Parts: sequence; C-alpha cells; structure tokens
Amino acid sequence: MDNININPYGYEDLTCAECGHNVFVPGIIFKKIPGMLAGDATRKFVLFPVKVACCTKCGALSAEDKEELEQQAEMAKKAEAAKSSIIV
Ligand SMILES: [Zn+2]
Repeated sequence: MDNININPYGYEDLTCAECGHNVFVPGIIFKKIPGMLAGDATRKFVLFPVKVACCTKCGALSAEDKEELEQQAEMAKKAEAAKSSIIV
C-alpha cells in the first residue's frame, strides 16, 4: 500500500455480491491460449493463469474480478475486431 497513513482496518470489507459473505480464497482461472499464438506450436494450448478471489461460502467470484474479466474479454474482442478489419 502506497499511503502508510491509511489504516485498512477502519474501512468496509469487500462482500460477496451473491451472498454477502466477507471471506475470500485465492483461485486461478486458466485462459487457454492457442499454442500457435503463444509461440509453441507443439502444444494445442498454453495456459495463462489469472488470479481471482472466490467467496468461501458460496464459491462465487468476487464482483471486482468478475467485472475485470468481463472488461478484459471485451477489450480483447475489440482488439481482435480491429485487427481483422485491418486485414480485410
Ligand atoms: Zn458468496
């Protein structure tokens, strides 16, 4: 944390958007990148790990992670669309 004058304990907990629980465990989502694109044509896929947090009560992804994943997927889609429109 950059600002050492902030005491994090004085602030609200992040809570699960699904059930309201406030304890999370770290998890990993593996994105499957085609081997050809990742520079390893001998493999069908190369796994790219994305760290996420999951609710310990209901297992749901934290809302922050869910939003981040959706935004990143949207950006990737747009980048792909831009690429293909350049080629065409
Ligand atoms: Zn939950």
